[in-house]
Amino acid sequence: MENIRNKRNRKFRTREYYGNSASDYHLLPFRFIELSESKEILVNEVGESLIVPRGTALKIAQRCIAENDPIIPDLISRFFISRKPIPELIDVLATRYRTKKSFLDSFTSLHIFVLTLRCNHSCHYCQVSRVTENREDFDISYNDIDLGIDHMFKSPSKKLTIEFQGGEPLLAFDKLEYAIERITRLNKDFKKELSFVVCTNATVFNTKNLQFLKEHNVLISTSLDGPEFLHDANRPKTGRNSYQLVLNGINYARKMVGHDQVSALMTTTRLSLDYPIEIIDNYLENGFNNIFLRPISPYGFALKNKTKNIYDDKKFLEFYKKGLDHIIKINQRGRYFVEDYTAILLKKILTPFCTNYVDLQSPSGIINNVVVFNYDGRVYASDESRMLAERNDLTFLLGHVSDSYESIFYGKKSKELSKYWSNESLAGCSDCAFQSYCGADPVYHYASQGDFEGFRPTSGFCLKNMGIIKHLFELMDFRKEEVMPIFISWISN
Ligand code: SF4
Repeated sequence: MENIRNKRNRKFRTREYYGNSASDYHLLPFRFIELSESKEILVNEVGESLIVPRGTALKIAQRCIAENDPIIPDLISRFFISRKPIPELIDVLATRYRTKKSFLDSFTSLHIFVLTLRCNHSCHYCQVSRVTENREDFDISYNDIDLGIDHMFKSPSKKLTIEFQGGEPLLAFDKLEYAIERITRLNKDFKKELSFVVCTNATVFNTKNLQFLKEHNVLISTSLDGPEFLHDANRPKTGRNSYQLVLNGINYARKMVGHDQVSALMTTTRLSLDYPIEIIDNYLENGFNNIFLRPISPYGFALKNKTKNIYDDKKFLEFYKKGLDHIIKINQRGRYFVEDYTAILLKKILTPFCTNYVDLQSPSGIINNVVVFNYDGRVYASDESRMLAERNDLTFLLGHVSDSYESIFYGKKSKELSKYWSNESLAGCSDCAFQSYCGADPVYHYASQGDFEGFRPTSGFCLKNMGIIKHLFELMDFRKEEVMPIFISWISN
C-alpha cells in the first residue's frame, strides 16, 4: 500500500533533495565494466579508457568525486565529464568520433571475386562446396567479371582492395589475369589506389603465374595451420603431403615475388586447440613475423564435420590466451612477432584511429566495407554470406552482378540488414563497455543463433571478444611494465 502511495506521489525532486554535490560537473556518455575485485574499466564513446578503483563509476554518477580528487583532470581531459553541459572542446570530441568511424568515409573498399569453386584440396573445414579440378563450369564468366569490375569502380572509395578467392583461384589463372589487366587498364581513368590479393593454397604456383603476380604487385595470402601433422590433418590433399607442398610453395613464391609479399593464415580446428605453442613456433621457424590466431567460422560446410570443426568458444579463449602468452615471451627474448587480432584490438584501444578489419566494425563491415562477387554472378554481403549460400541459404544474397549498383548496395536487403549492423543499438551491446572496440556481426548471429540481432549471453562472437578485450586490459594493468613496450611496438609499425 505504502509503495502504491509513493508511486502516486512521485514528482520531480528539487536539486536540494539530492544533496550538495562534492563536485560541479556534467556527465558525458561512458560505460564501465569490472576488471577485478578492486578495479573497473571506464570507456567512453570514442574509446578512451581509464582503469580506476571499483565504485568510481558510481561515484562519478552520484557526483561524489571531490573537487580536489586527482582523477578529475583525467576525467575532463578524456571526455568522461565536463565542466559545462556541452564541453568546451566539443569539436575535438566530434573529430575524435569521426576519426573512429572514418572506415565509413569511403564505403565499400574490399571487393572479393570468387573466381572458381575448383580446388585440389579437400579441407574438412572448407566453408564452400569445392569441386574437383576439372569442373570448369564452376568458374566465373568473363562477362560477370566485367560487371563486377564496373560495380567496383562505382564505389566512392579512393582505395580499392581486390581479393581473388576460390576454391583455388590460381586454377582459374586466365580469369585472374583477365580481371587484373582490365582493372589496371580502367584505373588509368579512375585513378584509384589499388591493392590486389590472391588467397591461394600455394600448391599450384609456376613461373608464369608467379611472374604475373610479381609484375602486378599482388599480395599472396596462403593457409598454414601449423606443424606437419596438424596441417596435413586439417588440409588433406589426395595422396600428397600438403604441408610440404605449401612450404615449397611459400618458399618458391618468396623467392619469386619477395619475402614480404607472402602471408599466411591459420584456422583453429578442434585438433589445433591443444597445440598453440607448436603452431606459433612453426610460424617462427618458417620465417613469419606474425600470426592470426583465428577461430573457425562455425557455419557453412564446416558444419558437415562437427567433430573436427565445432568446439566450445571457451576452449578457443584458452587457446588464444596461452598462445598470446607464448608470443609475449618470444618478444621478450628480442624477436619481433605479432598476434594480428591483438594488434587490431590494441589499435582500437590505445589509439584514436580505426582499423580496416571488416569483421570488427560498427556499423558492420558487410556492404559498408566488403562485398563478394561469386563465381555464379551472385553478389553477397560478405565472404561468410556466400558460405551460407553454399548450404542453400540465400539470406545475405544482395542480387546479381547484372543488377544495378543501387539495387545491390542500397536495395531492400541492404536496408533490412542495416537495422542490425550497429552494436550501438543492439541489446546487450548498447550498454557494453567494450562497444567501441567491438563490432556487430549479423551474419554470424544469424548463422549461429537464428536471427540477425543475436543473443549476447550465449553468443560465441560476444564471448570471444569480451574475453579477449578484458584479457588485454588485465595484461595492460597487471603486467604493464612487461607488455606495454611490446604492445606499443605492434601498433607503431
Ligand atoms: S558483442 Fe559482446 S563484447 Fe562486443 S559490444 Fe556486444 S556485448 Fe560487448
